Amino acid sequence: MSKYILALDQGTTSSRAILFDRDQNIIGVEQKEFNQIYPREGWVEQDPMEIFSSQYSVMMELLAKEDISPKDIAAIGIANQRETTIIWDKISGRPIYNAIVWQCRRTSGIVDDLVKDRELENHIRKNTGLIPDAYFSGTKIKWILDNVEGARERARNGELLFGTVDSWLIWKLCGENAARLHATDYSNASRTMIFDIHKLCWDERLLSALDIPREMLPQVYPSGHVYGTVNIQGAEIPIAGAAGDQQAALFGQCCFEKGELKNTYGTGCFLLMNTGYEPCESKNGLISTITAGLGGREKVQYALEGSVFVAGAVIQWLRDEMRFFDETKDSEYFAQKAEDTGGVYLVPAFTGLGAPYWDMHARGCIVGLTRGTKRQHIIRAAQESIAYQSMDLVRAMEKDLGTRISGLKVDGGASSNNFIMQFQADIINSPIHRPVIRETTALGAAYLAGLSTGFWKDLNEVKSKWQCEMTFSPAMEEERRAKLIAGWHKALGRSRDWAE
Ligand code: ADP
Repeated sequence: MSKYILALDQGTTSSRAILFDRDQNIIGVEQKEFNQIYPREGWVEQDPMEIFSSQYSVMMELLAKEDISPKDIAAIGIANQRETTIIWDKISGRPIYNAIVWQCRRTSGIVDDLVKDRELENHIRKNTGLIPDAYFSGTKIKWILDNVEGARERARNGELLFGTVDSWLIWKLCGENAARLHATDYSNASRTMIFDIHKLCWDERLLSALDIPREMLPQVYPSGHVYGTVNIQGAEIPIAGAAGDQQAALFGQCCFEKGELKNTYGTGCFLLMNTGYEPCESKNGLISTITAGLGGREKVQYALEGSVFVAGAVIQWLRDEMRFFDETKDSEYFAQKAEDTGGVYLVPAFTGLGAPYWDMHARGCIVGLTRGTKRQHIIRAAQESIAYQSMDLVRAMEKDLGTRISGLKVDGGASSNNFIMQFQADIINSPIHRPVIRETTALGAAYLAGLSTGFWKDLNEVKSKWQCEMTFSPAMEEERRAKLIAGWHKALGRSRDWAE
């Protein structure tokens, strides 16, 4: 009987491979960073071959280092950076252009043109669940087809394939069978801005608006699905799960039921709430997306999603640019050295504000400074800003859902900071639950692969093994909370509509 599940976590800056046993223990981790390419201001690319080779090599290194026989691996699950767009030649397997990364803003103009047609804008919001933006894959596909000579014609002739990173990895990993394995999952498809999240099919009207030939698009399957097999040293290992990283994390946090939610505290924050079998159309600046789910069910589940652009990154900024401390983890010590921020607020709107404000012209500010302001006040204010921004997302979700949340599961690098977690619990007035395994993205991919191959029996089994490491209970008086939140919103007002 196979003993392990292998999760491939293909992130924006690194590729990781993580091995889990049946009790969800991490047996080993390998990680490799790869190059980011910035050809111009605001443009971000990656080399698809390097994405693949880094992912493949960490997988092989992990097996070699841990001395694991491929025969002991029951299945592979993939979690990937979302929206990043790759187009490759079906015969040669070579990409025709670099991967255009989700952060890349080069297609803003295409989006501006699209939304001139108000009716089309509404169509995008309604059918894809998204707010039209260059972030999503659709306009990136159009850009490559418009700018690589002969590409559209070749795509029409069925010579080219489009994929997000999951599709690319599945196609590459499955080698010889590749022609049959041009596939993606619902959670990744729902980030392309050309996928109808209600009817679960590519949206003809958007394909035509962006002039994207239908022939180049992958087949879409549930996230938990046997996509194909990878031959490793003679063993055929099924790829049995694929999902976008944030949806994989929601799944890895066992948020299987409507109303359950998680917040990931990384460079930015990603808050996702399971909204059940019907998409919830946000009135508060959030987007709707398809969650990672298992096959066999007739209906997919949906989530509301909101993101904060700058979260953990403000701590990096204090460390690297302000030189307030040497090590990230020291930020917690300094925050706790101060009783409060002395009335200081820091709004890290370095690149504008994301949900629920969507103010591209906002810029960062530090307000409330006095002669008595000390370094630790600013350090504390920066950490509090991560919690305040997340609170604004939680409240927007609650408004959309019409109910209060009863708790929040957390993960990501900055979730290890106890000060931020306690302040988060205090400020949203709900308990925060931090799991033992914070590699929730990889764990979610592992769950999908393990559940769809019978390695784990059902959702109850994986849930029963999910362990909470620490709960942070709210302990702040209502009056203080209200005062602090009012101050935050006043500070936020100062940051808005700043850049010309
Ligand atoms: P990503 O996946 O976006 O690269 P990670 O989940 O690896 O992010 O988390 C890294 C981020 O978390 C960094 O921005 C870092 O500043 C922040 N971070 C890590 N540890 C701490 C800590 N103890 N306190 C505050 N922020 C932290």
